[in-house]
Amino acid sequence: MELDGIQVYHDGDFVKYGDAKVGLLTHGLNYGTGCFEGIRGYWSPDHAEVYLFRLAEHYERLHLSAKLLLMDLKDDVATMCEATTKLIRLNEYRQDVYVRPIAFKAAEEIGVRLHNVKDDFAIIAIPHRSYFESGAGLRTAVSSWRRIDDNSAPARAKLTGVYVSSALAKSEAVMNGFDEAILLTADGHVAEGSAENIFVVRDGRVFTPPVTDAILEGITRKTVIELLREELGLEVAERSIDRSELYQSDEIFFSGTAVGVSPVIEVDRRPVGSGSPGKIATALADLYRDITLGKVAKYHHWLTPSHATKTDRLRKAKATV
Ligand code: PMP
Repeated sequence: MELDGIQVYHDGDFVKYGDAKVGLLTHGLNYGTGCFEGIRGYWSPDHAEVYLFRLAEHYERLHLSAKLLLMDLKDDVATMCEATTKLIRLNEYRQDVYVRPIAFKAAEEIGVRLHNVKDDFAIIAIPHRSYFESGAGLRTAVSSWRRIDDNSAPARAKLTGVYVSSALAKSEAVMNGFDEAILLTADGHVAEGSAENIFVVRDGRVFTPPVTDAILEGITRKTVIELLREELGLEVAERSIDRSELYQSDEIFFSGTAVGVSPVIEVDRRPVGSGSPGKIATALADLYRDITLGKVAKYHHWLTPSHATKTDRLRKAKATV
């Protein structure tokens, strides 16, 4: 796509993508010293609105990732949220969007460290394209690459450099003919996909790896746990999962901003359950889609409208008090 003309937010200003330059020696580019987010905006033709899903929570996570990198972000969560909705309006997006906020060590100098390096922050919003082409369930393989250990580089923070681990696993899986990889922890338990959390259903019980098993603490994961409890009456057990449980499960599904809720139909050439998307995953995927499109009033508080201006939103909030 043509990026040059789109408006981005960079270091406190709204500028053209082509004018927001970084140099070749930028610390974050050389050492992977950055952190980022992935946020989805869903276009609702019925409401003529782009709804940003759990916007503030993404920026809260970004601030936690930044803290780990000893960054001092100038913008607070509210300012980042406002900048994001403004970007959608400035670019006149009336379609699904993907928002990529990124904070990085911006000094153009040699020297690997975290302290005393200046930071930079940008938000880029682009039209969204579907993450997986396969709509009928994903074929996966357990990766030969292990998920990075918390004591090497924490997976719980969304750090740019750590994504080498995801990229190695994803390319291995795709080049071997699969849709996605499943990574194990250093001690051999199931962690997550290359960019998704994982859920396993066995005998009507739902499991997901605990946050201490080298996973990103996904916002969709949290959403799915709540929806399973509230809407399907299923309590999720957060416990370590063995590789062989994947082969004996009735259902497996991924959760993530990019993929929403996506059923897994095969692991290591073994069918999951009957080999087609399971009932729980399908019900969840439908519910999640309706929620993101603003069709479920109960979960409207997870959505930030971007075309309604701040004044409109305040007026609307007052009118409903
Ligand atoms: N794990 C990894 C490694 C990811 O990159 C992502 C995507 N952000 C997720 C899990 C899912 O997290 P979320 O639901 O917050 O998008």
